[in-house]
Amino acid sequence: MGFVSLVGAGCGDASLLTRRGLDRLQRAGCVLYDHLIDPALLEETPPDCEKICVGKLSGRHTLPQEEINRLLAQKAGEYPLVVRLKGGDPLVFGRGGEEALYLRRAGVPFEIIPGISSAVGGLDCAGIPLTHRGVARGFRVMTASEGGGALPAGLDFESMARTSDTLVFLMGRAKAGALAGALLDAGKPADTPAALVSQAGRPGQGAVFAPLGDFARAVAQADLPDPALIAVGPALALASQLSFWASGPLAGARLALAQVGEGTTALARRLEDLGAQVTCLPVSRVEPLPGALEGVEFGRYSWLLLSSKNGVDCFFAELERRGLDLRALGGVKIAAIGGETGRRLAQTGARPDLIPPHFDSESLYEALAPLLGPGDRILFPRVEGGPPELPRRLSAHCPVDTPALYRLTPTPPAPLAQAYRQARPHFTLFTCASGASLLLRALGGAAGLGDSGLLAIGPQTARRLEQEGAPGAALARPYTYEGMAKKVLELWGQRG
Ligand code: SAH
Repeated sequence: MGFVSLVGAGCGDASLLTRRGLDRLQRAGCVLYDHLIDPALLEETPPDCEKICVGKLSGRHTLPQEEINRLLAQKAGEYPLVVRLKGGDPLVFGRGGEEALYLRRAGVPFEIIPGISSAVGGLDCAGIPLTHRGVARGFRVMTASEGGGALPAGLDFESMARTSDTLVFLMGRAKAGALAGALLDAGKPADTPAALVSQAGRPGQGAVFAPLGDFARAVAQADLPDPALIAVGPALALASQLSFWASGPLAGARLALAQVGEGTTALARRLEDLGAQVTCLPVSRVEPLPGALEGVEFGRYSWLLLSSKNGVDCFFAELERRGLDLRALGGVKIAAIGGETGRRLAQTGARPDLIPPHFDSESLYEALAPLLGPGDRILFPRVEGGPPELPRRLSAHCPVDTPALYRLTPTPPAPLAQAYRQARPHFTLFTCASGASLLLRALGGAAGLGDSGLLAIGPQTARRLEQEGAPGAALARPYTYEGMAKKVLELWGQRG
């Protein structure tokens, strides 16, 4: 008999999980999760982990609670460790208590791992202090959804009208108007600050603040997506002065980044440091092609070209697979496209001889061509089906071999499109042509981009966007990640 870990996933972003929760995820044989969790958390599980979505978006229950309970106990019979991953904290309105009691009765051992509840963390994300000395001496967390359409019976609006405690309502988006009405009827002043916080802790986070008297109208007008929570009380007046997101020049900017492999993480971090809310959309997965360098005699080459971080990783993995190391390259010179590629190379102990000033193949060609003679030979291992231009132009100078090192497999379009919609980006960023094609296909064409602005790292990427029906992308200057960050600052500044 295995055991069940009831893990609180935290509020919104995957990074808000506890270390103990992460440890359980990394060892899980099976995970049962609900819709509130960040799907990135599922990437932490072992490759053969069974992942089951047991649902729960309000009104859209995938599995009835009784069946979830039974499934938990059943899976505990099949795996040594089963994780029940729940949004926020497992014992705050997540019915985690019911699951724990069921497991106890069934004799299944379990543990409970706390998570940051949206009731607390979600307000932090909007800069709302639950308590504040001299303003709010406490807080109350309530559900606005129990039973059918009306407000739950037993909510004591009279005492809520009198208190300066912060009032927090979960599962209340559809009832925002009714809640405000009930509080006003009970005598709560119409100028009491109120807020609805949507997708707290996620890059698509949004909030609407309005005095209680105008709250119903403001919420209806803003039309922010679920999950959302409602807060009411004088402490909300402090919200404009506190911020969970870094308060930099990009504060308030929502950006989506088409991510091919893992190379763009550094750019995402840089933009977050500037204050942006960044959604990384992994449009493809890197699938190494084992045996790609079988039989390659490195000594025959004078240049090795690597054009991406993924290329570097797969290249060295292949060397290792063949029982070789850096020494196999002997005197082969190395050229790298892009600072990131160069940095990754340096981590392996190899220092590139040439990094062209711009992050594109044109710039590499211009830097490399004058150094080439007919006696040279270039090894350019790269992604399967990479663009033909660079090898073609180089082969006018000397022979070029381009073995396919890895393949980019598209990620399933439906979750990608959903993540894009939730991100509600002001700008969508593309760092390569294939990322542009993959994202646009997942979105069902350029119309799926909505009214987002577009930014391409270089002309090739911009051309590809145009071919996919999305013309007019802004260009980074220079064609580097840093150039992209600069351009985003400029574009965001222009919005005013
Ligand atoms: N156990 C969870 C709550 C589950 S009830 C927790 O501790 O957070 C589901 C409700 O939680 C939603 O209807 C919404 O009101 C709130 N909620 C959960 N995650 C949220 C988020 N990221 N942003 C805003 N509200 C959220």
